[in-house]
Amino acid sequence: MELKICHLYPDVLNLYGDRGNILCMEQRLKWRGIDVTTTGVSVGEPLKASDFDLFFIGGGQDFEEEVLLPDLAAGKTAELKAAIEDGATFLAICGGYQMLGAYYKTWDGQQCDFTGALDLYTEGSAERMIGNYAFTCEELGVNVVGFENHSGKTYLGSGVKPLGKVLKGYGNNGADGTEGARYKNVFATYSHGCLLPKNPVLCDHILKTALARKYGAVELPPLDDTLEESAHRYMERRLLGEK
Ligand code: GLN
Repeated sequence: MELKICHLYPDVLNLYGDRGNILCMEQRLKWRGIDVTTTGVSVGEPLKASDFDLFFIGGGQDFEEEVLLPDLAAGKTAELKAAIEDGATFLAICGGYQMLGAYYKTWDGQQCDFTGALDLYTEGSAERMIGNYAFTCEELGVNVVGFENHSGKTYLGSGVKPLGKVLKGYGNNGADGTEGARYKNVFATYSHGCLLPKNPVLCDHILKTALARKYGAVELPPLDDTLEESAHRYMERRLLGEK
């Protein structure tokens, strides 16, 4: 088995060590003897989305999100939308998450019309929503721990579901209790950095989603997640207290 990962805009959308999520996916595949290749596709480089099984889009500042608008409009938007509708797996974080929605209106009034691949939009606010946070993910029956830092407040339309419900922190907008978005095989979240290393159950679920589309349902042999679980539990306790 083999997974082909596309890292979209690796040199532009690269906040808070988001690339670590790719390292985590690669390593957890390699430990199970599954081949993986990761290809970066950035500004000015053509994207043939059907070449890939899994897309990773990291976070970026408002400025970087604006910079990408012409490149998206020049062809990548159509490729990304087709890939999503076709069931490709996506992990999109913060700025990358916002980019999959209809638009992002920044706190200083810049209108960024984005891909519209997902039924959601984002509006900037004066308040920054920063910190470690936690949400429940009902689909997996686990709590996810993460780190958020955004001024954009994202609102979901009826065409998407939240990835989870906020237990501590802000999530999509600090008001309606939702966090992230789910549509087909897209996983979108505000959680940066070491999201997958600290949440191995989520990582394996995303990998299984991508493998299942290509090879049919697969079981991944368990790994020794002692360190990962310990990091997860430490943050969970810090945020939510003792269970
Ligand atoms: N620029 C966006 C915001 O502040 C996203 C930031 C990010 O990716 N951390 O809402």
